[in-house]
Amino acid sequence: MADRSEKRVIVCGGGLSGLTAAVTALESGVPVTLLEKGPELGGNTALSGGMIWTFAEYEKARAAIPDGDPVLQWLVCDTIDEARTWLASQGVILGPHQVCHEGIGRGRQMQPPQAIAVLADRFGSLGGDLHLETALDSLILRNGSIHGVQVARGDRVEDEHARAVVLTTGGFQGNPELLSRYVIRDPDNLFLRSNPWSTGDGFLAATQVGASVSRGLDNFYGHALAAPPARFSKLQFRDVSQHYGQQSIAVNLHGERFADESDGNTEDTLNQRLAHQPQGKGFYIIDQELMACDEPHASGIVTRVIVERARVAGAPVVVAATIEELCRKLSPFGIPEQRLCREITEFNRMIESGQADELKPARRRHRKSLCRAPFHAVGVKASITFTMGGLQIDERARVLRRTAGSSPSAAIPPARAFSETDALSIAIGQEYRQTAIAGLYAAGCDTGNISHFEYMGGLAPALATGRVAGRSAAGFIKKVFG
Ligand SMILES: Cc1cc2nc3c(=O)[nH]c(=O)nc-3n(C[C@H](O)[C@H](O)[C@H](O)COP(=O)(O)OP(=O)(O)OC[C@H]3O[C@@H](n4cnc5c(N)ncnc54)[C@H](O)[C@@H]3O)c2cc1C
Repeated sequence: MADRSEKRVIVCGGGLSGLTAAVTALESGVPVTLLEKGPELGGNTALSGGMIWTFAEYEKARAAIPDGDPVLQWLVCDTIDEARTWLASQGVILGPHQVCHEGIGRGRQMQPPQAIAVLADRFGSLGGDLHLETALDSLILRNGSIHGVQVARGDRVEDEHARAVVLTTGGFQGNPELLSRYVIRDPDNLFLRSNPWSTGDGFLAATQVGASVSRGLDNFYGHALAAPPARFSKLQFRDVSQHYGQQSIAVNLHGERFADESDGNTEDTLNQRLAHQPQGKGFYIIDQELMACDEPHASGIVTRVIVERARVAGAPVVVAATIEELCRKLSPFGIPEQRLCREITEFNRMIESGQADELKPARRRHRKSLCRAPFHAVGVKASITFTMGGLQIDERARVLRRTAGSSPSAAIPPARAFSETDALSIAIGQEYRQTAIAGLYAAGCDTGNISHFEYMGGLAPALATGRVAGRSAAGFIKKVFG
Protein backbone atom coordinates (compact mmCIF):
# COMPACT_ATOMS: atom_id res chain seq x y z
CA MET A 1 0.00 0.00 0.00
CA ALA A 2 1.57 3.28 -1.05
CA ASP A 3 2.02 5.77 1.76
CA ARG A 4 0.34 9.07 1.15
CA SER A 5 -0.42 12.34 2.84
CA GLU A 6 -1.54 12.56 6.44
CA LYS A 7 -4.56 14.48 5.20
CA ARG A 8 -6.93 11.55 5.34
CA VAL A 9 -8.95 9.40 7.70
CA ILE A 10 -7.98 5.75 8.14
CA VAL A 11 -10.89 3.53 9.18
CA CYS A 12 -9.90 0.13 10.62
CA GLY A 13 -12.64 -2.49 10.18
CA GLY A 14 -15.23 -2.91 7.45
CA GLY A 15 -18.45 -3.84 9.24
CA LEU A 16 -21.45 -1.53 9.60
CA SER A 17 -19.73 0.95 11.92
CA GLY A 18 -16.61 1.14 9.73
CA LEU A 19 -18.43 1.43 6.42
CA THR A 20 -20.75 4.06 7.90
CA ALA A 21 -17.84 6.09 9.32
CA ALA A 22 -15.93 5.78 6.04
CA VAL A 23 -18.81 6.88 3.78
CA THR A 24 -19.79 9.67 6.18
CA ALA A 25 -16.22 11.05 6.20
CA LEU A 26 -16.02 10.85 2.38
CA GLU A 27 -19.30 12.74 2.12
CA SER A 28 -17.68 15.48 4.20
CA GLY A 29 -15.03 15.80 1.50
CA VAL A 30 -12.12 14.13 3.27
CA PRO A 31 -10.11 11.24 1.69
CA VAL A 32 -10.60 7.91 3.44
CA THR A 33 -8.63 4.66 3.50
CA LEU A 34 -10.54 1.63 4.80
CA LEU A 35 -8.57 -1.34 6.13
CA GLU A 36 -10.26 -4.72 6.53
CA LYS A 37 -8.47 -7.65 8.13
CA GLY A 38 -10.66 -10.33 6.53
CA PRO A 39 -10.83 -11.27 2.86
CA GLU A 40 -14.20 -9.50 2.51
CA LEU A 41 -16.16 -6.66 4.03
CA GLY A 42 -18.98 -7.25 6.49
CA GLY A 43 -17.72 -8.79 9.76
CA ASN A 44 -20.55 -9.62 12.14
CA THR A 45 -22.81 -7.27 10.24
CA ALA A 46 -22.80 -9.76 7.37
CA LEU A 47 -23.79 -12.62 9.70
CA SER A 48 -26.50 -10.64 11.47
CA GLY A 49 -30.26 -10.86 11.23
CA GLY A 50 -30.26 -7.26 9.99
CA MET A 51 -32.76 -5.86 12.49
CA ILE A 52 -31.54 -2.33 13.27
CA TRP A 53 -33.34 -1.89 16.57
CA THR A 54 -32.87 -0.15 19.86
CA PHE A 55 -35.06 1.17 22.64
CA ALA A 56 -37.86 3.37 21.40
CA GLU A 57 -37.16 5.90 24.15
CA TYR A 58 -34.01 6.93 25.98
CA GLU A 59 -35.81 6.74 29.34
CA LYS A 60 -36.72 3.10 28.67
CA ALA A 61 -33.09 2.31 27.82
CA ARG A 62 -31.95 3.92 31.07
CA ALA A 63 -34.55 2.01 33.07
CA ALA A 64 -33.50 -1.31 31.51
CA ILE A 65 -29.73 -0.64 31.44
CA PRO A 66 -28.99 1.77 34.30
CA ASP A 67 -25.30 0.80 34.44
CA GLY A 68 -24.67 1.59 30.77
CA ASP A 69 -23.10 4.88 29.67
CA PRO A 70 -25.96 7.46 29.66
CA VAL A 71 -24.22 9.74 27.16
CA LEU A 72 -23.75 7.01 24.59
CA GLN A 73 -27.19 5.54 25.19
CA TRP A 74 -28.63 8.99 24.63
CA LEU A 75 -26.54 9.34 21.46
CA VAL A 76 -27.92 6.06 20.07
CA CYS A 77 -31.56 6.80 20.92
CA ASP A 78 -31.34 10.42 19.77
CA THR A 79 -29.61 9.87 16.43
CA ILE A 80 -30.80 6.45 15.28
CA ASP A 81 -33.74 7.76 13.22
CA GLU A 82 -31.50 10.19 11.34
CA ALA A 83 -28.89 7.44 10.88
CA ARG A 84 -31.44 4.96 9.48
CA THR A 85 -32.77 7.67 7.15
CA TRP A 86 -29.21 8.33 5.98
CA LEU A 87 -28.68 4.60 5.42
CA ALA A 88 -31.84 4.42 3.30
CA SER A 89 -30.67 7.49 1.34
CA GLN A 90 -27.54 5.52 0.36
CA GLY A 91 -29.74 2.90 -1.30
CA VAL A 92 -29.98 0.39 1.55
CA ILE A 93 -33.44 -1.16 1.54
CA LEU A 94 -35.06 -0.81 4.97
CA GLY A 95 -38.38 -2.30 6.01
CA PRO A 96 -41.01 -0.24 7.84
CA HIS A 97 -40.62 0.70 11.51
CA GLN A 98 -41.48 -2.29 13.69
CA VAL A 99 -42.15 -2.61 17.37
CA CYS A 100 -39.93 -5.37 18.76
CA HIS A 101 -38.42 -6.88 21.89
CA GLU A 102 -41.68 -7.23 23.75
CA GLY A 103 -42.80 -3.70 22.90
CA ILE A 104 -39.79 -1.78 24.27
CA GLY A 105 -37.81 -1.62 21.03
CA ARG A 106 -38.28 -0.10 17.62
CA GLY A 107 -36.42 -1.26 14.56
CA ARG A 108 -36.17 -1.47 10.80
CA GLN A 109 -35.09 -4.55 8.93
CA MET A 110 -32.22 -4.48 6.43
CA GLN A 111 -30.80 -7.33 4.36
CA PRO A 112 -27.14 -7.41 5.42
CA PRO A 113 -25.62 -8.52 2.07
CA GLN A 114 -27.52 -5.80 0.21
CA ALA A 115 -26.57 -3.17 2.80
CA ILE A 116 -22.87 -4.07 2.72
CA ALA A 117 -22.79 -4.14 -1.08
CA VAL A 118 -24.48 -0.73 -1.29
CA LEU A 119 -22.14 0.88 1.25
CA ALA A 120 -19.08 -0.68 -0.43
CA ASP A 121 -20.20 0.66 -3.83
CA ARG A 122 -20.85 4.06 -2.39
CA PHE A 123 -17.42 4.04 -0.73
CA GLY A 124 -15.80 3.25 -4.08
CA SER A 125 -17.82 5.78 -6.04
CA LEU A 126 -16.84 8.55 -3.59
CA GLY A 127 -13.18 7.74 -4.19
CA GLY A 128 -12.54 5.65 -1.07
CA ASP A 129 -9.39 3.54 -0.92
CA LEU A 130 -10.12 -0.05 0.25
CA HIS A 131 -7.53 -2.61 1.39
CA LEU A 132 -8.71 -6.13 2.23
CA GLU A 133 -6.58 -8.59 4.21
CA THR A 134 -4.85 -5.61 5.77
CA ALA A 135 -5.02 -5.34 9.55
CA LEU A 136 -4.47 -2.56 12.04
CA ASP A 137 -1.49 -3.59 14.14
CA SER A 138 -0.74 -0.51 16.26
CA LEU A 139 -1.21 3.25 16.38
CA ILE A 140 1.43 5.88 15.69
CA LEU A 141 1.26 8.57 18.36
CA ARG A 142 3.44 11.70 18.37
CA ASN A 143 3.21 14.38 21.05
CA GLY A 144 -0.12 13.01 22.17
CA SER A 145 -1.67 13.13 18.67
CA ILE A 146 -2.41 10.32 16.26
CA HIS A 147 -0.18 10.31 13.18
CA GLY A 148 -1.25 7.03 11.63
CA VAL A 149 -1.25 3.28 12.03
CA GLN A 150 1.05 0.38 11.55
CA VAL A 151 -0.65 -2.23 9.41
CA ALA A 152 0.03 -5.92 8.99
CA ARG A 153 -0.24 -7.32 5.51
CA GLY A 154 0.91 -10.89 5.24
CA ASP A 155 4.31 -10.93 6.93
CA ARG A 156 4.94 -7.22 6.42
CA VAL A 157 4.27 -4.41 8.88
CA GLU A 158 4.11 -0.95 7.31
CA ASP A 159 3.48 2.60 8.49
CA GLU A 160 0.45 4.39 7.07
CA HIS A 161 0.18 8.06 7.97
CA ALA A 162 -3.05 9.88 8.74
CA ARG A 163 -4.05 12.51 11.29
CA ALA A 164 -7.36 10.80 12.08
CA VAL A 165 -8.00 7.10 12.72
CA VAL A 166 -11.36 5.45 13.42
CA LEU A 167 -11.30 2.10 15.21
CA THR A 168 -14.14 -0.19 14.14
CA THR A 169 -12.60 -3.64 14.54
CA GLY A 170 -15.70 -5.14 16.19
CA GLY A 171 -14.70 -6.00 19.79
CA PHE A 172 -12.46 -8.67 21.34
CA GLN A 173 -14.67 -11.78 21.41
CA GLY A 174 -12.25 -13.67 19.14
CA ASN A 175 -9.31 -13.28 21.53
CA PRO A 176 -9.28 -16.01 24.24
CA GLU A 177 -6.52 -14.27 26.17
CA LEU A 178 -8.50 -11.02 26.47
CA LEU A 179 -11.64 -13.03 27.27
CA SER A 180 -9.93 -14.80 30.15
CA ARG A 181 -8.49 -11.50 31.37
CA TYR A 182 -11.77 -9.58 31.35
CA VAL A 183 -14.80 -11.79 30.72
CA ILE A 184 -14.63 -15.38 31.88
CA ARG A 185 -12.13 -17.66 33.61
CA ASP A 186 -12.44 -20.36 30.97
CA PRO A 187 -13.10 -19.03 27.44
CA ASP A 188 -13.64 -22.64 26.31
CA ASN A 189 -17.06 -22.30 27.96
CA LEU A 190 -18.03 -20.11 25.02
CA PHE A 191 -18.74 -20.89 21.40
CA LEU A 192 -17.56 -18.02 19.20
CA ARG A 193 -20.76 -16.79 17.53
CA SER A 194 -18.93 -14.15 15.56
CA ASN A 195 -16.67 -13.49 12.61
CA PRO A 196 -13.19 -14.80 13.53
CA TRP A 197 -11.29 -11.55 12.92
CA SER A 198 -12.56 -9.43 15.82
CA THR A 199 -9.71 -10.24 18.18
CA GLY A 200 -9.45 -6.93 20.03
CA ASP A 201 -6.95 -5.25 17.70
CA GLY A 202 -8.59 -1.82 18.11
CA PHE A 203 -8.83 -2.28 21.87
CA LEU A 204 -5.19 -3.36 22.20
CA ALA A 205 -3.80 -0.66 19.90
CA ALA A 206 -5.71 2.10 21.70
CA THR A 207 -4.94 0.94 25.23
CA GLN A 208 -1.25 0.74 24.26
CA VAL A 209 -1.37 4.50 23.66
CA GLY A 210 -3.18 5.17 26.92
CA ALA A 211 -6.88 4.96 26.01
CA SER A 212 -9.45 4.62 28.78
CA VAL A 213 -11.53 1.49 28.92
CA SER A 214 -15.22 1.51 29.73
CA ARG A 215 -17.05 -0.11 32.59
CA GLY A 216 -18.67 -3.48 32.03
CA LEU A 217 -15.70 -5.18 30.38
CA ASP A 218 -16.98 -8.55 31.63
CA ASN A 219 -20.35 -8.23 29.88
CA PHE A 220 -21.05 -9.67 26.47
CA TYR A 221 -23.80 -10.45 24.00
CA GLY A 222 -24.61 -13.86 22.53
CA HIS A 223 -27.21 -16.65 22.56
CA ALA A 224 -27.07 -20.23 23.76
CA LEU A 225 -26.42 -22.43 20.74
CA ALA A 226 -27.08 -26.10 19.97
CA ALA A 227 -24.55 -27.94 22.17
CA PRO A 228 -21.80 -30.30 20.98
CA PRO A 229 -21.66 -32.64 19.20
CA ALA A 230 -23.71 -30.24 17.05
CA ARG A 231 -21.85 -28.88 14.04
CA PHE A 232 -22.79 -25.77 12.11
CA SER A 233 -21.19 -23.07 10.00
CA LYS A 234 -21.10 -19.35 10.78
CA LEU A 235 -23.97 -18.88 8.34
CA GLN A 236 -26.10 -21.07 10.64
CA PHE A 237 -25.43 -19.14 13.86
CA ARG A 238 -28.92 -17.67 13.80
CA ASP A 239 -30.57 -21.02 13.01
CA VAL A 240 -29.06 -22.78 16.02
CA SER A 241 -29.58 -19.92 18.52
CA GLN A 242 -32.00 -21.17 21.18
CA HIS A 243 -34.11 -18.04 21.58
CA TYR A 244 -36.91 -19.70 23.63
CA GLY A 245 -34.68 -20.11 26.73
CA GLN A 246 -36.55 -17.47 28.71
CA GLN A 247 -39.66 -19.68 28.65
CA SER A 248 -37.83 -22.90 29.50
CA ILE A 249 -36.52 -24.46 32.66
CA ALA A 250 -32.77 -24.05 32.19
CA VAL A 251 -30.55 -26.45 34.10
CA ASN A 252 -26.79 -26.89 34.24
CA LEU A 253 -24.94 -30.21 34.08
CA HIS A 254 -25.64 -30.73 37.80
CA GLY A 255 -29.37 -30.69 37.02
CA GLU A 256 -29.82 -27.35 38.84
CA ARG A 257 -31.55 -24.18 37.78
CA PHE A 258 -28.92 -21.42 37.88
CA ALA A 259 -30.85 -18.24 36.91
CA ASP A 260 -34.22 -16.62 36.50
CA GLU A 261 -34.58 -17.78 32.92
CA SER A 262 -37.06 -15.00 32.13
CA ASP A 263 -34.69 -12.17 33.09
CA GLY A 264 -33.76 -9.51 30.51
CA ASN A 265 -35.30 -8.45 27.25
CA THR A 266 -33.86 -11.34 25.23
CA GLU A 267 -32.35 -14.77 25.91
CA ASP A 268 -28.85 -13.26 25.87
CA THR A 269 -29.09 -12.54 29.61
CA LEU A 270 -29.59 -16.24 30.34
CA ASN A 271 -26.77 -17.03 27.91
CA GLN A 272 -24.37 -14.85 29.93
CA ARG A 273 -25.27 -16.78 33.08
CA LEU A 274 -25.02 -20.13 31.33
CA ALA A 275 -21.45 -19.23 30.32
CA HIS A 276 -20.40 -19.38 33.98
CA GLN A 277 -21.86 -22.86 34.55
CA PRO A 278 -19.66 -25.98 34.20
CA GLN A 279 -18.40 -26.20 30.61
CA GLY A 280 -20.85 -23.39 29.73
CA LYS A 281 -23.39 -26.12 29.01
CA GLY A 282 -26.88 -27.07 30.10
CA PHE A 283 -30.32 -28.10 28.88
CA TYR A 284 -33.37 -25.99 28.06
CA ILE A 285 -36.42 -28.06 29.07
CA ILE A 286 -39.82 -27.24 27.57
CA ASP A 287 -43.25 -28.79 27.20
CA GLN A 288 -45.60 -29.28 24.27
CA GLU A 289 -47.43 -26.03 24.95
CA LEU A 290 -44.33 -24.03 23.99
CA MET A 291 -43.48 -26.43 21.15
CA ALA A 292 -46.94 -25.93 19.63
CA CYS A 293 -47.00 -22.15 20.16
CA ASP A 294 -47.17 -20.16 16.92
CA GLU A 295 -45.80 -16.97 18.47
CA PRO A 296 -42.30 -16.35 16.99
CA HIS A 297 -39.33 -15.27 19.13
CA ALA A 298 -37.18 -12.15 18.57
CA SER A 299 -35.48 -14.07 15.76
CA GLY A 300 -38.85 -14.38 13.99
CA ILE A 301 -38.82 -18.18 14.36
CA VAL A 302 -41.14 -20.41 16.42
CA THR A 303 -39.81 -22.77 19.10
CA ARG A 304 -40.44 -26.06 17.32
CA VAL A 305 -38.43 -24.96 14.30
CA ILE A 306 -35.51 -23.84 16.47
CA VAL A 307 -35.55 -27.17 18.34
CA GLU A 308 -35.67 -29.11 15.09
CA ARG A 309 -32.70 -27.14 13.75
CA ALA A 310 -30.73 -27.97 16.92
CA ARG A 311 -31.57 -31.66 16.46
CA VAL A 312 -30.58 -31.66 12.80
CA ALA A 313 -27.28 -29.92 13.68
CA GLY A 314 -26.56 -32.81 16.06
CA ALA A 315 -27.30 -31.33 19.50
CA PRO A 316 -28.58 -33.66 22.23
CA VAL A 317 -32.39 -33.46 22.03
CA VAL A 318 -34.30 -35.76 24.36
CA VAL A 319 -38.07 -36.34 24.13
CA ALA A 320 -40.16 -38.09 26.79
CA ALA A 321 -43.79 -38.68 27.73
CA THR A 322 -43.25 -37.92 31.43
CA ILE A 323 -40.88 -35.78 33.49
CA GLU A 324 -39.54 -38.95 35.15
CA GLU A 325 -38.72 -40.51 31.79
CA LEU A 326 -37.05 -37.27 30.64
CA CYS A 327 -34.81 -37.21 33.72
CA ARG A 328 -33.89 -40.87 33.19
CA LYS A 329 -33.02 -40.20 29.54
CA LEU A 330 -30.79 -37.25 30.51
CA SER A 331 -28.68 -39.23 32.96
CA PRO A 332 -26.33 -40.57 30.21
CA PHE A 333 -25.38 -36.90 29.66
CA GLY A 334 -24.10 -36.76 33.24
CA ILE A 335 -27.17 -35.07 34.73
CA PRO A 336 -28.07 -36.58 38.14
CA GLU A 337 -31.54 -38.10 37.60
CA GLN A 338 -32.97 -37.62 41.10
CA ARG A 339 -31.64 -34.08 41.41
CA LEU A 340 -33.17 -33.03 38.09
CA CYS A 341 -36.50 -34.68 38.92
CA ARG A 342 -36.66 -32.77 42.21
CA GLU A 343 -35.76 -29.51 40.45
CA ILE A 344 -38.52 -29.76 37.84
CA THR A 345 -41.15 -31.06 40.29
CA GLU A 346 -40.38 -28.23 42.71
CA PHE A 347 -40.50 -25.67 39.88
CA ASN A 348 -43.92 -26.94 38.77
CA ARG A 349 -45.26 -27.03 42.34
CA MET A 350 -44.14 -23.48 43.18
CA ILE A 351 -45.42 -22.03 39.90
CA GLU A 352 -48.80 -23.75 40.27
CA SER A 353 -49.18 -22.60 43.87
CA GLY A 354 -48.37 -18.98 42.95
CA GLN A 355 -45.03 -18.99 44.79
CA ALA A 356 -42.75 -18.27 41.83
CA ASP A 357 -41.07 -15.47 43.81
CA GLU A 358 -40.00 -17.99 46.46
CA LEU A 359 -38.25 -20.23 43.95
CA LYS A 360 -34.47 -20.18 44.11
CA PRO A 361 -33.71 -18.59 41.69
CA ALA A 362 -37.09 -16.81 41.53
CA ARG A 363 -39.04 -16.78 38.28
CA ARG A 364 -40.41 -13.30 37.56
CA ARG A 365 -41.99 -13.77 34.13
CA HIS A 366 -43.23 -16.58 31.91
CA ARG A 367 -44.68 -18.28 34.95
CA LYS A 368 -45.90 -21.54 33.44
CA SER A 369 -45.32 -25.02 34.78
CA LEU A 370 -44.21 -27.82 32.45
CA CYS A 371 -47.40 -29.82 32.22
CA ARG A 372 -48.21 -30.84 28.66
CA ALA A 373 -46.43 -33.91 27.25
CA PRO A 374 -44.30 -34.67 25.39
CA PHE A 375 -41.40 -32.89 27.08
CA HIS A 376 -38.23 -31.84 25.26
CA ALA A 377 -34.74 -31.19 26.65
CA VAL A 378 -32.31 -29.50 24.28
CA GLY A 379 -28.57 -29.45 24.96
CA VAL A 380 -27.24 -25.89 24.81
CA LYS A 381 -23.87 -24.17 25.11
CA ALA A 382 -23.23 -20.48 25.77
CA SER A 383 -21.77 -18.28 23.04
CA ILE A 384 -20.25 -14.83 22.56
CA THR A 385 -21.11 -12.56 19.64
CA PHE A 386 -19.54 -9.33 20.87
CA THR A 387 -18.02 -7.84 23.97
CA MET A 388 -20.13 -5.08 25.53
CA GLY A 389 -17.18 -3.35 27.17
CA GLY A 390 -14.49 -1.56 25.16
CA LEU A 391 -12.90 1.81 24.60
CA GLN A 392 -14.27 4.82 26.42
CA ILE A 393 -15.51 7.39 23.93
CA ASP A 394 -17.39 10.65 24.33
CA GLU A 395 -20.44 11.86 22.45
CA ARG A 396 -18.24 12.86 19.48
CA ALA A 397 -16.83 9.31 19.36
CA ARG A 398 -13.42 10.60 20.50
CA VAL A 399 -11.38 8.00 22.36
CA LEU A 400 -10.61 9.27 25.84
CA ARG A 401 -7.37 9.01 27.75
CA ARG A 402 -6.92 6.75 30.70
CA THR A 403 -5.56 9.50 32.97
CA ALA A 404 -8.12 12.02 34.08
CA GLY A 405 -5.63 14.39 35.67
CA SER A 406 -5.77 16.98 32.92
CA SER A 407 -5.63 20.71 33.40
CA PRO A 408 -9.02 22.42 33.12
CA SER A 409 -8.01 24.01 29.81
CA ALA A 410 -7.27 20.60 28.32
CA ALA A 411 -10.56 19.17 29.51
CA ILE A 412 -13.12 18.44 26.83
CA PRO A 413 -15.77 21.16 26.65
CA PRO A 414 -19.37 20.11 26.17
CA ALA A 415 -20.05 19.74 22.46
CA ARG A 416 -23.70 20.58 22.94
CA ALA A 417 -26.10 21.21 25.73
CA PHE A 418 -27.53 17.97 27.03
CA SER A 419 -30.37 19.21 29.12
CA GLU A 420 -32.70 16.23 28.79
CA THR A 421 -32.38 14.95 32.31
CA ASP A 422 -30.46 15.89 35.42
CA ALA A 423 -28.91 12.46 35.61
CA LEU A 424 -27.48 12.86 32.13
CA SER A 425 -26.01 16.29 32.84
CA ILE A 426 -24.35 14.97 35.97
CA ALA A 427 -22.89 12.03 34.10
CA ILE A 428 -21.59 14.29 31.35
CA GLY A 429 -19.96 16.56 33.90
CA GLN A 430 -17.98 13.56 35.05
CA GLU A 431 -16.98 12.55 31.53
CA TYR A 432 -15.38 15.92 30.81
CA ARG A 433 -12.68 15.40 33.38
CA GLN A 434 -11.01 13.16 30.82
CA THR A 435 -9.19 14.30 27.70
CA ALA A 436 -9.47 13.05 24.14
CA ILE A 437 -6.57 11.48 22.24
CA ALA A 438 -6.29 13.93 19.36
CA GLY A 439 -7.29 12.25 16.11
CA LEU A 440 -8.49 8.94 17.57
CA TYR A 441 -12.12 7.80 17.24
CA ALA A 442 -13.97 4.55 17.81
CA ALA A 443 -17.37 3.17 16.89
CA GLY A 444 -19.49 0.00 16.98
CA CYS A 445 -18.32 -2.85 19.17
CA ASP A 446 -14.92 -1.23 19.75
CA THR A 447 -16.71 1.26 22.01
CA GLY A 448 -17.81 0.26 25.45
CA ASN A 449 -20.73 0.17 27.80
CA ILE A 450 -23.64 1.18 25.59
CA SER A 451 -25.11 -2.21 26.49
CA HIS A 452 -24.30 -3.33 30.01
CA PHE A 453 -25.39 -6.89 30.72
CA GLU A 454 -28.72 -5.97 29.06
CA TYR A 455 -28.68 -5.56 25.28
CA MET A 456 -29.38 -2.28 23.48
CA GLY A 457 -29.01 -3.69 19.98
CA GLY A 458 -25.80 -4.23 18.01
CA LEU A 459 -26.47 -2.73 14.59
CA ALA A 460 -28.17 0.44 15.84
CA PRO A 461 -25.22 1.43 18.08
CA ALA A 462 -22.81 0.54 15.23
CA LEU A 463 -24.72 2.75 12.79
CA ALA A 464 -25.23 5.65 15.20
CA THR A 465 -21.65 5.75 16.50
CA GLY A 466 -20.26 5.13 13.00
CA ARG A 467 -22.05 8.26 11.76
CA VAL A 468 -20.71 10.35 14.62
CA ALA A 469 -17.16 8.98 14.31
CA GLY A 470 -17.07 9.62 10.55
CA ARG A 471 -18.28 13.20 10.98
CA SER A 472 -15.89 13.91 13.87
CA ALA A 473 -12.83 12.43 12.15
CA ALA A 474 -13.51 14.40 8.95
CA GLY A 475 -14.08 17.56 10.99
CA PHE A 476 -10.75 17.04 12.75
CA ILE A 477 -8.86 16.64 9.44
CA LYS A 478 -10.42 19.86 8.15
CA LYS A 479 -9.45 21.66 11.34
CA VAL A 480 -5.84 20.42 11.23
CA PHE A 481 -5.31 21.12 7.52
CA GLY A 482 -7.56 24.15 7.17
C1 LIG B 1 -25.48 -14.30 14.06
C2 LIG B 1 -25.62 -12.85 14.42
C3 LIG B 1 -26.87 -12.24 14.36
C4 LIG B 1 -27.00 -10.89 14.73
N1 LIG B 1 -28.21 -10.27 14.57
C5 LIG B 1 -28.34 -8.96 14.90
C6 LIG B 1 -29.57 -8.27 14.67
O1 LIG B 1 -30.51 -8.77 14.03
N2 LIG B 1 -29.67 -6.99 15.14
C7 LIG B 1 -28.62 -6.36 15.76
O2 LIG B 1 -28.77 -5.20 16.17
N3 LIG B 1 -27.43 -6.96 15.91
C8 LIG B 1 -27.25 -8.23 15.49
N4 LIG B 1 -26.04 -8.84 15.62
C9 LIG B 1 -24.90 -8.05 16.18
C10 LIG B 1 -24.36 -7.11 15.09
O3 LIG B 1 -24.06 -7.87 13.95
C11 LIG B 1 -23.09 -6.39 15.57
O4 LIG B 1 -23.34 -5.76 16.80
C12 LIG B 1 -22.66 -5.33 14.55
O5 LIG B 1 -22.55 -5.91 13.29
C13 LIG B 1 -21.35 -4.72 14.98
O6 LIG B 1 -20.85 -3.90 13.94
P1 LIG B 1 -19.32 -3.47 13.99
O7 LIG B 1 -19.10 -2.61 12.81
O8 LIG B 1 -18.97 -2.94 15.33
O9 LIG B 1 -18.52 -4.86 13.87
P2 LIG B 1 -18.41 -5.87 12.65
O10 LIG B 1 -19.57 -5.81 11.75
O11 LIG B 1 -18.08 -7.21 13.24
O12 LIG B 1 -17.14 -5.34 11.84
C14 LIG B 1 -15.84 -5.40 12.40
C15 LIG B 1 -14.87 -5.58 11.24
O13 LIG B 1 -13.54 -5.29 11.68
C16 LIG B 1 -12.67 -6.20 11.03
N5 LIG B 1 -11.40 -6.22 11.77
C17 LIG B 1 -11.10 -6.85 12.91
N6 LIG B 1 -9.83 -6.60 13.28
C18 LIG B 1 -9.33 -5.76 12.34
C19 LIG B 1 -8.06 -5.13 12.16
N7 LIG B 1 -7.04 -5.31 13.02
N8 LIG B 1 -7.87 -4.32 11.09
C20 LIG B 1 -8.87 -4.15 10.17
N9 LIG B 1 -10.08 -4.75 10.28
C21 LIG B 1 -10.32 -5.52 11.37
C22 LIG B 1 -13.43 -7.50 11.04
O14 LIG B 1 -12.93 -8.42 10.10
C23 LIG B 1 -14.84 -7.01 10.70
O15 LIG B 1 -15.05 -6.99 9.30
C24 LIG B 1 -25.86 -10.17 15.19
C25 LIG B 1 -24.60 -10.77 15.20
C26 LIG B 1 -24.47 -12.11 14.79
C27 LIG B 1 -23.11 -12.74 14.75
